Amino acid sequence: MRKLYLPLVLSFGITAVYADNVNYQKIVDQAYSKYKNDNRGKVADYIPELAKYNKNLYAITLITVDGKVYSAGNVKAKFPLESISKIFALSLALQQHGADEVLEKIGSEATGLPFNSITAIEQQPTKTGNGLVNAGAIATISLINAEGMDDKWNLISNNLNDYANAKLSLNQDVYKSEMDSNQHNQAITQLLISHKSFYGDMNETLDIYTRECSVDVSTIELAQMASVLANNGKSIFNGKQLLNAKLIPKLLSQMATAGMYDYSGTWMYNVGIPAKSGVSGGIIAVVPGKYAIAAYSPPLDSYGNSVRAQEAIKYIAKATDENIFNTK
Ligand code: GLN
Repeated sequence: MRKLYLPLVLSFGITAVYADNVNYQKIVDQAYSKYKNDNRGKVADYIPELAKYNKNLYAITLITVDGKVYSAGNVKAKFPLESISKIFALSLALQQHGADEVLEKIGSEATGLPFNSITAIEQQPTKTGNGLVNAGAIATISLINAEGMDDKWNLISNNLNDYANAKLSLNQDVYKSEMDSNQHNQAITQLLISHKSFYGDMNETLDIYTRECSVDVSTIELAQMASVLANNGKSIFNGKQLLNAKLIPKLLSQMATAGMYDYSGTWMYNVGIPAKSGVSGGIIAVVPGKYAIAAYSPPLDSYGNSVRAQEAIKYIAKATDENIFNTK
């Protein structure tokens, strides 16, 4: 009897502390100082302009769904959204076209190949795959309805601004550098066209795709963007319903299965929180109904995910006892 009683008291005690009284600032500070001197990883250089970023930059912002903001590090440092922008374009496509049409035209597969495929071991699919890999993200831009190119860019950039509750700006140097070095994305687009999995003009689409990747954010702005996803699609800061609450699980499912590239399965296994990474060194992570994190540091591991940002998010998830597969 005694043996049973003690652990019960203990576990109720811990649950109560985490549910009602988490010291988020202390946890964010600890995550920051623990990995500040972790110098593993390499700053991306396949886009020449990205290679110029300082490898010591490191910032974390956590925002709870009641609008409280907790930060540590270089929170004013700006960096381009890169692949994180794909989430918000996919949000627009879901809002415009609905879950079924996005599934049919973009897909939601993490590998896109059969369970026993030999090829899957060696290579990723060439068709759209899902909205978070380059092929699916470029196709997503082509799928978004607008009157013309200017109109489409306004729609996409205003959507980013609404998510961030800020007027974000385009990093011209990164945009030009990416436009000059995007031959690979041009090839992907040609392949999509040949597979009839592309829904717009090639040059316009690639231009807009590259622009959305080159929009600058700080971790505070990025955490505000991610907090919309933690709050059922409604901005805590401007009250706008940016994505129908029913479509939020569709978006988060894509982050869970593909947000950390070909490390997504291991990430979910180890951390259990949907996340989306970008090659500039930013990562967002979302605990639905609780909080969102944006972490940033340029050096990347071999999968292309920021070393310090991953460690920080992992630390915070553990310290706050959050894992979407655990019911407490
Ligand atoms: N703009 C980059 C590209 O298309 C985005 C890649 C990324 O962030 N993983 O290659």
